[in-house]
This record gives sequence, C-alpha cells and structure tokens, in this order.
Amino acid sequence: MSNYPNARFLISAAAAAQFPRDVGAEVAIVGRSNAGKSSAINAIVSRRHLARTSKTPGRTRLLNFFELAPEARLIDLPGYGYAQGPREERASWAALIEALAPRESLRGLLLVVDARRGLMAGDRQLMDWAASIGQPVHVLYSKSDQLSRAEGQRLMQNAPVSAQLFSAHKGTGVEEARAHLNQWLGIGS
Ligand code: GDP
Repeated sequence: MSNYPNARFLISAAAAAQFPRDVGAEVAIVGRSNAGKSSAINAIVSRRHLARTSKTPGRTRLLNFFELAPEARLIDLPGYGYAQGPREERASWAALIEALAPRESLRGLLLVVDARRGLMAGDRQLMDWAASIGQPVHVLYSKSDQLSRAEGQRLMQNAPVSAQLFSAHKGTGVEEARAHLNQWLGIGS
C-alpha cells in the first residue's frame, strides 16, 4: 500500500511562473546526478515510477512537483554536479533553485548524498545556500548498503548536519526519512 495514497504528479516547471500556487507546505529533494534521488523518492513515497525524471542529456531540466497530500508537496530538482558541464546548464540549474527561495511554503531540503562518496563541493554549496535562506537540510546518505557497518558509523560520526543512512534497495532508513518529510509537511501530526 502507498504511504501517500493520493500522491500525484502535478507539474514540470521550467520557471517560477509555472510553479503551483504557493500555499501549504513543500519540501525539495536535491542531490548530485546519480546520487540515488529518484530511487529515494520511489522508496519514500512507495509508488514505483512516481519520480519522473528526464535524464536524457540536453533536455531541458525541470522542477517536478508532486502532491503527496492536500497542500503538501515534494519538489524533485534536477541532479547537479557535473562541474565540467556547460556553463549555461549550471546557470540554469542555479536559476531554478533560486526561484524556490521566496516560496513561503518551502519547509526544508532533503539532500541525497552517495554514502560511498560523501559530501562533495556541490553538496556543500547547496547546504550553504540553504543556510543563507534559513532552510533546514536533512542528508540522506544513500546506497548505504554498499558500506560496512564501521564505514557507516564513521560517516555518521562526521556528518555535519541532520543526517541518516539510507538504502532504497534494502529499505534502510526509509521510515526515518519519511518521518522527517512528514514532519516538515505537517502530515500525520
Ligand atoms: P538519481 O540520478 O540521483 O535519480 O539516481 P538513481 O535513483 O537513478 O540511482 C542512480 C544509480 O544508483 C542507479 O544505478 C541505482 O540502481 C543506484 N542506486 C540507487 N539507490 C541505491 C541503493 O539504495 N543501493 C545501491 N547499491 N544502489 C542504488
């Protein structure tokens, strides 16, 4: 059974003008390309293929808005991190995320980080940006099934912010991530 029985895809937006009405609460989920973000969304929402992502290179990168419950949204941002990518592409990514900054509904960011790589420059930039606009960040260290127990413990000891181990494949930390999301969205409280 789905944890969000009425979850539905709302819109893919290329600019603020297309965003849904700024009412209720919303959480953005972000991460480097290939960090495991789509898998995390599908595991947390428990609906396969809910996370529509356009991974075709060269296609316009969009923000995907999902409604998980009335006036409670999850925003899937395009992956970032190919520093050697075209300058225009990086600028358009920055413009997209900047467009979220003034949203009254925004409650926080779930940051998906490949546990085998740890926080990279782009992740730290994102955390700095979130801090600059006063948004909390919760880190999902994804693919944690690839770490030994000791490696997982070490990662958590050095985790700079609110963080947890997560594995979409094994189901590790899915409940914890969902609880975090629900708290931000005001679901089930
Ligand atoms: P995205 O680009 O951030 O949306 O990442 P995806 O969800 O498409 O995953 C990228 C790659 O990581 C794929 O090859 C997935 O199979 C793999 N992956 C995602 N989640 C996990 C996980 O929990 N464990 C492992 N071992 N691999 C994962």
